[in-house]
Amino acid sequence: MNFNIQNLIRENIKNMQPYSSARDEFQDYEEKMIYLDANENPNENGINRYPDTQQKAVKKILSEIKKVAKNQILLGNGSDEVLDLLFRAFCEPNKDNVITLPPTYGMYGVLANLNAVENKEVLLNDEFEPNIEQILSQVTAQTKIIFLCSPNNPTGNSFSDESIVTLLKNFNGLVVLDEAYIDFSSKESWLSEINDYPNLIISQTLSKAYGMAGIRLGILYASASIIEVLNKIKPPYNVNILTQNKALDKLANTKKIIKQVSDIQLEKEFLFKHFLQIKFIEKAFDSDANFILIKVDNANKRYQQLLENGIVVRNRSSQPLCDNCLRITIGTSAENLKLINTLKTL
Ligand SMILES: *Cc1c(COP(=O)(O)O)cnc(C)c1O
Repeated sequence: MNFNIQNLIRENIKNMQPYSSARDEFQDYEEKMIYLDANENPNENGINRYPDTQQKAVKKILSEIKKVAKNQILLGNGSDEVLDLLFRAFCEPNKDNVITLPPTYGMYGVLANLNAVENKEVLLNDEFEPNIEQILSQVTAQTKIIFLCSPNNPTGNSFSDESIVTLLKNFNGLVVLDEAYIDFSSKESWLSEINDYPNLIISQTLSKAYGMAGIRLGILYASASIIEVLNKIKPPYNVNILTQNKALDKLANTKKIIKQVSDIQLEKEFLFKHFLQIKFIEKAFDSDANFILIKVDNANKRYQQLLENGIVVRNRSSQPLCDNCLRITIGTSAENLKLINTLKTL
């Protein structure tokens, strides 16, 4: 292993001074000062001030829940933003490349495109596991990031520990492990490993298990030196006050979230059991997430029939290895019942 973060940072970013916001310079005094520095409207209404650029209160509570140091956390406007920052910090446009493993989350490829970075695709194998040898054979000096999504969207499975460790140990660039669905998985998060693997970056979100897709809060966990680079280039006020306050509010009561997650697990079992009884469903893939990928006789036809019955699912049949596959999110028990009853009539 010959990993050095300094070798990965783009030159322009190495030399860049971060934008220093008015409030950054005076954060220690926050409560007592008269703020005449940022051209805000002085009439207090809860949102007249710029938000905390470092989201200190949210990081404090996340650091307690996840048992990670505060300087190993980066927050952004959804996973989209924090993943985009990785491209901007480490991938030189029209020169560097990343590796993604279809079928997987589409945003990695979209962000690669947006940043003019080549996306080398290495398909998962028939068990939806990474093809380790093929991945490593695709690595060049310009390969900066490998994106792993585990549990994977849309397949729902988690990758084996062995696959993940082999990549971490044999790739000198960054390994991004997207754990958007980790709270639905029986497998442990890799969070506790960020101190052992300097090239490991973990991506999580409040959009799924935490029930806050609407506030847009994405999270990266990594070594303090990686987080420092990203902090330097992030837009200063990237997480607004409403989002920070709502996140604080909800994270203070994780009991409710844990209950919801276990209810969703029960509903998932209910759906699995009933899917098996429906003749045109050829297969329901095991899922460590809050959705189930099913293989049907004719995905376009079944998708359309469900639509006509007021049910929207995700047609993934155009994805590699996902012929005639639909991805179905676990809904409320009433919604799931309606789904099953509808499927039975088709
Ligand atoms: C839903 C999802 C996310 C979450 O994205 P946000 O921008 O945080 O809402 C991230 N990764 C994967 C694989 C997802 O499916």
